[in-house]
Amino acid sequence: MRFLCLCLTIPLLLTSMLYPYDNSVSAAQAITPAPPPQQKAAKPETKPPSDPIYEERKQLFLRLEGLYGVPWTYLAAIDQYERTMTRKKKKADSGEPKRITAITIPPASWSGYLNPEMDDVDEPSISFFGGMGMDGSGDGKADQQNDTDVVTSIARYLSEFGFTEDDIRIGIWTYYKRDRAVKTIEQFKRVFEKYQTLDVMNHSFIVPRRYNYSYRSTWGDPRGWGGRRIHEGTDIFADYGTPVLSTGYGVVEIMGWNRYGGWRVGVRDMDNVYHYYAHLASFRKGLKVGDIVEPGQVVGYVGSSGYGKPGTSGKFPPHLHYGMYRDVGHAEWAFDPYPHLKNWERQSIRSAQKKKKKK
Ligand SMILES: [Zn+2]
Repeated sequence: MRFLCLCLTIPLLLTSMLYPYDNSVSAAQAITPAPPPQQKAAKPETKPPSDPIYEERKQLFLRLEGLYGVPWTYLAAIDQYERTMTRKKKKADSGEPKRITAITIPPASWSGYLNPEMDDVDEPSISFFGGMGMDGSGDGKADQQNDTDVVTSIARYLSEFGFTEDDIRIGIWTYYKRDRAVKTIEQFKRVFEKYQTLDVMNHSFIVPRRYNYSYRSTWGDPRGWGGRRIHEGTDIFADYGTPVLSTGYGVVEIMGWNRYGGWRVGVRDMDNVYHYYAHLASFRKGLKVGDIVEPGQVVGYVGSSGYGKPGTSGKFPPHLHYGMYRDVGHAEWAFDPYPHLKNWERQSIRSAQKKKKKK
């Protein structure tokens, strides 16, 4: 018999409706069912060698922190935010100079709105037109493609708002004019601050491999419950109480009850992807909104909650519904987690085999 997965979907573009935090967390923790197996959070199973670019970037941000007093973690977070927003535009051999940061200042902001030369490199002229472009590298040119010039310009811009966290937040909002940008940048900044490195991009598999689990590609399958919807995610079938692990570094953005998803946790990772873990039996004890999580860390336990009022459970076999949503600036789009799960699973099998060989 095949399980008929009655699973949640979130209509595209309505995902932002999930954002208002609900405060039903304590209720969820109160219903903790069968005690989950006493297992420690698995260590991230794959740790690729650190790319030297992370350190190179960090040094640049540290230098600018020294000059303008804006914490390097904010500069790194702005860089990371822009990297996740411009992902699609990047071309391999565009002939553009090689950059180590992803920050792009719009030409009009760089040169000044009334400047007839949108690619102005002359600092006095840029300054005359009220542009923010600066020559940080000292080569006599304020170059929009020069990392040092760009990061200098951003650091100087922010420093003019002041140096408390609130001041910097206002500076970031004034620059991007987008609440989501401020929130995401804050989250990135907190993760960089905690780990003191930019090397926080790796991922790992979603359940410990020693547990029984199964999943297949169900992207776009039709769903019966709750009107006409399609399946936006992957269902991982596992027994009640199987630990659900964070697949990446990120910040817990949402916890609580949702009519379709039951007890669910939402985590924004360092790629600006929102990870949605639903139908949980319970959350990891003590986990709360704003917590930083890392690959392999337990966020909750598999259950069958959802499809009704808070506490509804058992309307379908226990499984984890996992969804991934990318922020594209004006909306969040669901994409298929299946290939990513397969990839992380393969990596964890490979690294387990390597460990075996070493013994
Ligand atoms: Zn599902």
